Amino acid sequence: MGSSSEKPQLIIDGKRIDGRAFDELRPIEMEVGVLKNADGSAIVAFGNTRVLAAVYGPREVMPKHVALADRAVIRCRYRMLSFSAEERKSPAPSRREIELSKVIREALEPAIMSELFPRTTIDIFIEVLNADGGTRTTGITAAALALADAGVPMRDLVAGVAVGKVDGKLVLDINKVEDMYGEADMPVAAMPSLGRITLLQLNGVLTHEEFVEALALALKGIRKIYELQKEALRKKYVTTEEA
Ligand code: UDP
Repeated sequence: MGSSSEKPQLIIDGKRIDGRAFDELRPIEMEVGVLKNADGSAIVAFGNTRVLAAVYGPREVMPKHVALADRAVIRCRYRMLSFSAEERKSPAPSRREIELSKVIREALEPAIMSELFPRTTIDIFIEVLNADGGTRTTGITAAALALADAGVPMRDLVAGVAVGKVDGKLVLDINKVEDMYGEADMPVAAMPSLGRITLLQLNGVLTHEEFVEALALALKGIRKIYELQKEALRKKYVTTEEA
């Protein structure tokens, strides 16, 4: 995302441009089971970023020749809807969307017990309804909920968040302005219970010390997001008497 406009001041009086503390997540909303026709679905919002995930399967593979004898094929499509960004996004799949679809699939795959469903497919659709930074990590967080909602056996949930370096400070859960004008951004996803990182990307430059600190900050955020994911699942599946 290039921009010719002047860089705004990103830290003012020790607070971020939207008033948050450095280690503060945006207001988060999560709801599971929002689409009747999908096997599993979830909608997740981090501030103004809002993403819908739908899961279909395990189901018969079409076309048949892509089937695998020892596990399910996992397919993932990430898409930003035309109206999701300030500038209309062309509906044709962009290079970025194709790449993010792969990166998101790879972030989710380690959690899915695909070996239980040979010769089937699990299809994951991620639709960005409104984009304001962190759509890949929000997409991963939503897709993990949708997979769980579909009843797909999983080793753990997957939760994601991006850390950024803005005006020399490391900050959690960057929004679009911080992403655009910051010095670095680092999306991370992990299986929180297993302590396994499934996505780690870095755009920009961090020193070794900053990297270690940024990763710790991301994992701290991921643990909070994980608690909210479990709460969202409980809300749908556990009745008040059981809770
Ligand atoms: N963005 C946009 N149009 C695009 C691509 C990105 O408006 O075609 C915005 C959007 O708000 C997105 C942000 O730029 O969330 C950062 O994009 P990036 O590629 O870093 O991925 P993300 O942070 O969403 O995972």
